[in-house]
Amino acid sequence: MKLVLIGIQGAGKSTQGGFLAEKYKIPYLSSGHIFREMAKEKTQMGRWLKETINSGALVPDDKTLEIILTYLEKPEYAKGYILDGFPRTVVQADAFNGGVDKVIFLEVSDKEALWRIAGREGERQDETLQAIKKRIALFHSLTQPVIDFYAQEGKLITVNGELNITEVFKEIVGALEKSKNY
Ligand code: AMP
Repeated sequence: MKLVLIGIQGAGKSTQGGFLAEKYKIPYLSSGHIFREMAKEKTQMGRWLKETINSGALVPDDKTLEIILTYLEKPEYAKGYILDGFPRTVVQADAFNGGVDKVIFLEVSDKEALWRIAGREGERQDETLQAIKKRIALFHSLTQPVIDFYAQEGKLITVNGELNITEVFKEIVGALEKSKNY
């Protein structure tokens, strides 16, 4: 099963991704996590990634595709995966053609997401208000078209991400079981 989780920062993608990974015994992979780890490297590439991530901008499509697609070639992802944060632009989704069975869109308002992020403990370096707002704006301009693209392909599952964590998980599993064509 090849699943993609889509939603703005604070929508609950990593929480639900973890639950799904456990239930279906398939690995969870977050592109943001990969990039944050690479940004720790004391190389020119590491410094550039750190700056990009902390500003809230996206890593360019060609770099993203090169890194994430190489990652997904690892044998542990051969049977399936739960992706969080990729694909995030139409260019990425086009290039990833064939890599997706179902897309779960966790729908949460910008306001609710900002509340949730503000209440988090262990703040991340890339979670400044400015960076978060930029990420949300980029989501609406660049990732919403990805959602529309998967809707047209009949792969989209939209879930109200403002329900509580258990209810959101139930909704996702219910929708996946109903579709069953993965
Ligand atoms: P996230 O944890 O998904 O919010 O990702 C953190 C940061 O990593 C983003 O703000 C981007 O700079 C970068 N990033 C993660 N995934 C992607 C992607 N699919 N395309 C471009 N940049 C990405």
